[in-house]
Amino acid sequence: MVGAAFAALLAANPLTAALRVLMLDRAPPPEALGPLPPVPGLRVSTLTPASVRLIERAGAWRDVAPPHSAAFKTMQVWDSSGSGCVRYSAAEAGEPVMGHVAENDLLQAALLRQLRQPGAGVELLWPAQLEGLHLPKPFSELQRDGGGAAPGALAELGLSGGRRLRARLVVGADGPRSHVRQLADLRTFGWAYGQRGLVATVRPEVANTCAWQRFLPHGPLALLPVRNGYANIVWTTTPRHAAELEAASPEAFADAVNEALQGAPTPARNFFLPAAAAESEFRRPPLVRPASGRGPKSFPLALRASGRYVRSRLALIGDAAHAVHPLAGQGVNLGLADAGALADALAYAVTTGQDVGDEGMLEGAYEAPRQAANGAMLAALDGLKRVFEPQSGLLSGLRGLGLDALNAVPGAKQRIVRYAMGV
Ligand SMILES: Cc1cc2nc3c(=O)[nH]c(=O)nc-3n(C[C@H](O)[C@H](O)[C@H](O)COP(=O)(O)OP(=O)(O)OC[C@H]3O[C@@H](n4cnc5c(N)ncnc54)[C@H](O)[C@@H]3O)c2cc1C
Repeated sequence: MVGAAFAALLAANPLTAALRVLMLDRAPPPEALGPLPPVPGLRVSTLTPASVRLIERAGAWRDVAPPHSAAFKTMQVWDSSGSGCVRYSAAEAGEPVMGHVAENDLLQAALLRQLRQPGAGVELLWPAQLEGLHLPKPFSELQRDGGGAAPGALAELGLSGGRRLRARLVVGADGPRSHVRQLADLRTFGWAYGQRGLVATVRPEVANTCAWQRFLPHGPLALLPVRNGYANIVWTTTPRHAAELEAASPEAFADAVNEALQGAPTPARNFFLPAAAAESEFRRPPLVRPASGRGPKSFPLALRASGRYVRSRLALIGDAAHAVHPLAGQGVNLGLADAGALADALAYAVTTGQDVGDEGMLEGAYEAPRQAANGAMLAALDGLKRVFEPQSGLLSGLRGLGLDALNAVPGAKQRIVRYAMGV
């Protein structure tokens, strides 16, 4: 998704459209856009308004917009320890919707359609793997060492099947286990959460436009509206529980979701809230029924970030640069913002006559602003995950009071919601 968005942004901007771009992937892409299956796929992303604007810039939004995806206007977050609930709304942030939930395959296919347009100038190659990468030293090091490759030397790539290429810039958008990052010898930091994120499609009894998230003792369970009246589950839990849920029948799985979302206790009335603010009070999420199609599937969860995003003739974007906990649905949004920032940096390099692979340009125009923005979000998400870990009675009571107090302070809520929406 992130690599395709980056290539589509380059193709859509007259300043960068003349660059020759090759996009390769080891896996074949999702099928070309066509009639969508009645039951939405398991892998979906919540797209913030900022991401939607970027996909619009890439020319792909009309293929992703509702009814191909679902919008949500409110979000309710509450704590299973009994107290504490926050309800956010798009209106508080001055936006018509808080976000859209779109299937990953659809987003990728819509972006690829842009890349296949005549004149897009992007060569697509799959299945293909990067097997070798040689990056030249930066000019400053060459001067210090008094020799070596000439300034302006290109990156050299070796692909599976023996094809060899030279490039002014290599962009690693190859996900959390990035091979490009490893070949470039960029170090990462982070930790495994020892949990799995389980995704599934269910059918709510009542279609709605709210994104629900309940914090359970092992992690959050989110119920997100998707197209056609369905909902997507993202359930963070222990590896053992995830395996049980994956093995459960569709009916038993729906029962487990209903128990986890509806089970006692429910938050009591919020005493911080004035009576006039009833729309901020806790509401019960809809009951869900099984959906036909693929059963639940789970993925290991970890925080991982690359210490550097760039080297001479190299840049990392998306999960290749940073992978986060899915509890706030931010992962692909951070990656799309990287894609936008790097595409802008290249447009700036083209207009100012600079080399698009120059490390100094990449550092200043791409790495510095994106490291700052992503670092803040990484810390916020990791902190949020820890705040909601199982706590003793007193601490969980304080946590509930904190959520209730936040729910009653419109200014603080507005700032949080605008930050999460990228506006
Ligand atoms: C359970 C779960 C739920 C999530 N929910 C959300 C959500 O609601 N909202 C959100 O924003 N994010 C969510 N995320 C995170 C989101 O899925 C990722 O941030 C996003 O997929 C990253 O996109 P990407 O394009 O950077 O990398 P990827 O999606 O990992 O794509 C990498 C691409 O590189 C290719 N590739 C990999 N290695 C090679 C190689 N060696 N050679 C050639 N090609 C290669 C792969 O085939 C793939 O096409 C969730 C994650 C999980 C685990």
